Amino acid sequence: MRATIIHAPGDIRLETVPDPTIVASTDAIIRTVATCVCGSDLWDYRGVNPVVSPHPIGHEYVGVVEEVGRDVSSVTPGEFVIGSFYATDNTCQHCCSGYQSACVRREFVNGCQADYIRIPFADGTLVSTSDLPDDSLIPDLLALSDVMGTGWYAAVAADVRPGSTVVVVGDGAVGLSGVLAARELGAERIIAMSRHDTRQQLATDFGATDIVTERGGDGIAAAIELTGGIGADCVLECVGTQEAMRQALKSARPGGNVGFVGVPHGVTIACEELFFSHVGLRGGPAPVRRFLPDLIDRVLTGRIEPGKVFDLELPFDQVAEGYKAMDERRAIKALLRT
Ligand SMILES: [Zn+2]
Repeated sequence: MRATIIHAPGDIRLETVPDPTIVASTDAIIRTVATCVCGSDLWDYRGVNPVVSPHPIGHEYVGVVEEVGRDVSSVTPGEFVIGSFYATDNTCQHCCSGYQSACVRREFVNGCQADYIRIPFADGTLVSTSDLPDDSLIPDLLALSDVMGTGWYAAVAADVRPGSTVVVVGDGAVGLSGVLAARELGAERIIAMSRHDTRQQLATDFGATDIVTERGGDGIAAAIELTGGIGADCVLECVGTQEAMRQALKSARPGGNVGFVGVPHGVTIACEELFFSHVGLRGGPAPVRRFLPDLIDRVLTGRIEPGKVFDLELPFDQVAEGYKAMDERRAIKALLRT
């Protein structure tokens, strides 16, 4: 089969590798229908995370079940399935409390930019649609595998509820998905921080009521001003840099909450400042599995179109171009049809 291998920063190659096989009786093999490039794949591509040796990459997928191990009962060959970047049993106490991404048996699902993928704990990880979805829904369903599930978690972690005022820091695919999640959860005012025309447009499309283009102190001042001088009820931090975290913490009102889903890179938080701010903070890798059934339903009923974050669609053999376009910010997110 074909698989995407990163050899070094900037060096993405599509190579022929052996097909995956069932290893454990709880595994499934799926034939990928579509996959995509994640903002976090760019940490490797840009050399922020060291690439020690060539390895498969990609953790977002939708596909059709090809084969299952003898202990798999909830999905069968031929079904269309969506899963998240962690394979989880969905039965341990962490899973049962809604934190599947902290599952005691979790395994990171890597190498998804490929024709076939082995999914551990298929029963706990994969959610199937009742019918094969229409081709036009593939981008929407693929977005649920990571970005929409992560944006949703950011909104839930920030305690967005009907009537909330919300600030979203980050206009990448996750931040934009966070805007959509905040709208779906009933937020009244959604302030998106963005300096890019196309992203501002999509944020507005997804439900943003205000756009703030300033950054740093000016950005904080703008968010405070737009929330009547007190700060937002909820802030979604979807970047993972020091500047973004500062923007988030300083935009929340006393008693407000920050949901942070940007993987932190060199971020430090002043504990004393946090103490006196009265701001609540919750984040981490999103338990996407918790939200999948609900999100799939919202897509299939036409309520949300999270696939709009894909502004570049390429055949799979052009995966390297997908990385390049995202690295150069020519694309928000690249979808690859396999
Ligand atoms: Zn578990």
